[in-house]
Amino acid sequence: MDLNTVEELDRPKGGAAVAARAGRLNDSEAWLAGGTWLFSEPQPRVSKLVDITGAGWAPLTINTCGLEIAATCTVAELDALRTPEDWRAAHLIGACSRAFLASFKIWNVATVGGNLCMGLPAGPMISLTASLDGACRIFGRDGSEWEVPALDFVVGPQQTVLRPGELLRSIRIPVDRLRRPAAFRRIALSPMGRTGALVIGTLAPSGGIDITITGATPRPVRIAFHTVPDATSAARAVDAAIPVGGWYDDVHGSPEWRRAMVKEFAGEISEELGAAARMRQ
Ligand SMILES: Cc1cc2nc3c(=O)[nH]c(=O)nc-3n(C[C@H](O)[C@H](O)[C@H](O)COP(=O)(O)OP(=O)(O)OC[C@H]3O[C@@H](n4cnc5c(N)ncnc54)[C@H](O)[C@@H]3O)c2cc1C
Repeated sequence: MDLNTVEELDRPKGGAAVAARAGRLNDSEAWLAGGTWLFSEPQPRVSKLVDITGAGWAPLTINTCGLEIAATCTVAELDALRTPEDWRAAHLIGACSRAFLASFKIWNVATVGGNLCMGLPAGPMISLTASLDGACRIFGRDGSEWEVPALDFVVGPQQTVLRPGELLRSIRIPVDRLRRPAAFRRIALSPMGRTGALVIGTLAPSGGIDITITGATPRPVRIAFHTVPDATSAARAVDAAIPVGGWYDDVHGSPEWRRAMVKEFAGEISEELGAAARMRQ
């Protein structure tokens, strides 16, 4: 779509030039990443776009600490990543990449950072990074930098912790989370539909599990268990953690359906990770 209110396109070259703009954008200016959302609907407020894709940040960096995903990394680049064999949670990358209501055309330009910054309940990169305890690195005003857990980055539908003009630089995922056995469940109302509920569980070395709920709630919700619960206890814990009014409601699923699906998935994931825990013993 033509954005006919946009009069200026700023394309800083290099990481330093992009970082220098952080915290300095005014209300009529917006960061441009893949542009798949920005160009999908009118943006009457926006008169200037600042393109961050010339930053030249390495899309993906694997080191002893884990994985750093640049905000500008595309979903296609992330999906193509070859991961170390002991990263047992790596299958979540492919599963979450395929959880977009989108074609390959979107995949090839949509960025991981753009997905987090959109803050949609159905944002699969939010599901991935929140469930693996990623840390979001943010560039603020005057060269300042701060971090926030990916679990807390989105605070509601299309709302994040970013202050005006701040820039998401990258998401760091710790290696111990990538090494955990993980289970994934997702459902949409139709085969190619937008996510209605997406639940991920990971098994900690201590024998506990972390269940992360996205898609069904306005923001990610974590339920942590010290030991693997049975399916009934896991479903009960979902009810205890999320009040009746705490479920997301839109055309992609009613709150009642989302609640029922998440309870079912929490039970299934507990059983799956319980079996993984028994094999480890
Ligand atoms: C057909 C179609 C299907 C889609 N399906 C889904 C879906 O299933 N789930 C879903 O969540 N989304 C979906 N989207 C929306 C969108 O494509 C994705 O959220 C995508 O990941 C956004 O990334 P982008 O790089 O294109 O962001 P852009 O469109 O470039 O930017 C999105 C927003 O984030 C801001 N932004 C981008 N990067 C940064 C940064 N690093 N720091 C601060 N702000 C930043 C921009 O200013 C803008 O407000 C879909 C869109 C289309 C057109």
